[in-house]
Amino acid sequence: MTKKYYIETYGCQMNVADSEVVASILGDAGYEPVTDIKVADIILVNTCSIRDNAEQRVWGRLDLFRSEKRKRPQVIVGVLGCMAERLKEKLLESDKMVDMVVGPDAYRELPMLVETAGSGHTAVNVLLSREETYADISPVRLESNGVSAFISIMRGCNNMCSYCVVPYVRGAERSRDPETIVREAREVFDKGYREVTLLGQNVNSYSNSIGFPGLLDKVASIDPLLRVRFSTSHPKDLSDDVLELMSRHDNICKHIHLPVQSGSSNVLTRMNRKYTREWYLERIAAINRILPGCNLSTDIIAGFCGETEEEHQDTLDLMREVGFDFAYMFKYSERPDTKAARHMKDDVPEDVKTRRLNEIIALQNKLSGVSKRSDIGKTLEVLVEGKAKKSIARKDTARNLSSDNASQDTAVTMMGRTSGNKVVVFQASGIKPGDYVNVEITSATSATLIGNII
Ligand code: SF4
Repeated sequence: MTKKYYIETYGCQMNVADSEVVASILGDAGYEPVTDIKVADIILVNTCSIRDNAEQRVWGRLDLFRSEKRKRPQVIVGVLGCMAERLKEKLLESDKMVDMVVGPDAYRELPMLVETAGSGHTAVNVLLSREETYADISPVRLESNGVSAFISIMRGCNNMCSYCVVPYVRGAERSRDPETIVREAREVFDKGYREVTLLGQNVNSYSNSIGFPGLLDKVASIDPLLRVRFSTSHPKDLSDDVLELMSRHDNICKHIHLPVQSGSSNVLTRMNRKYTREWYLERIAAINRILPGCNLSTDIIAGFCGETEEEHQDTLDLMREVGFDFAYMFKYSERPDTKAARHMKDDVPEDVKTRRLNEIIALQNKLSGVSKRSDIGKTLEVLVEGKAKKSIARKDTARNLSSDNASQDTAVTMMGRTSGNKVVVFQASGIKPGDYVNVEITSATSATLIGNII
């Protein structure tokens, strides 16, 4: 009987890419994916540890899996990813009936660990590696829209930001051989994908013979119809070489995600981010100089250890100065064993953290609205990803569809993204995912652009 496995994934794009590696390894070992835990022989959860609430969600899921295991004791429950690496055997000792704990560098061992757990023994492998990049494994694209694919180019991180748990749960930085990355990008292009996102905790420190600009150049040269994105950049390593290389390839998307975390140099020092406010703004100036119109997004932490009201105002002020299109914004969540947890007091009161975060979110919503409204009247190239979740009112966009009612009747609301990573919705018929269309932007919300296909 073919064993069936169910996997759910939490956290960042790296974890999504890892679950696709897991699916490939289990597929090669003869396991079959299912989407219903009730028919699964193996229930896997790929976890995130970046903030406490990410782990709380997983504890909740483990309760559900435990009730399934109570009904079918032969079911194997496995915890993968960052929480597995952080908590290790503690997960087995919990009352959650977990059978298997597997860290991010031990997925090759999964078939063997499943056998061990299946024979009633607990199965654990949380060894971190200095070499493992899964470069030879062709990921199985899970829940993919068939248009965009994630390709991890490196693993781990050496930056040791004082609040961050990643270096402890994903280990030291190691870069994947460029030929295997180019091969994978070419493979997905030949399968009809039209966009790849190169993933790493800090892609700018991708290190091997050709460096990150060289890798970007090779991937972008596969085909002009293949859009190339990358995430995440670190402000201390984002070089003009990367920006100039981006300016030479139209298919390298003109969007940069550049986490700032705080607008105060004092806070950045306490965070061990290794750059100052002035350095960050100089990088933004370089982007605007070399890539005018390039879209910017960021990450911001509110209420880090010792953050004063003045330092909080520095963050708001920097946001206004840069004018980010989008931002991921969070309250500081102390993570065990990090440098901040060991040496700094989490002393900003929770209500102050909440008020500061709300001020940051309110400002960002304004900035996002300004950024979106600045596109009204422009015609933007959109890579179609599929049908939009919500249909837009026909009257808004009908005038550009051919006059016969047939195409108007068959028109549906499609969605896609600009090179700047802005979501666009428009009415169309006969358009399919992977197509490139030009859309004239007629209106905008703070999250979405609306337009007419031309
Ligand atoms: S760069 Fe800093 S925040 Fe990002 S993963 Fe590395 S240690 Fe964490």
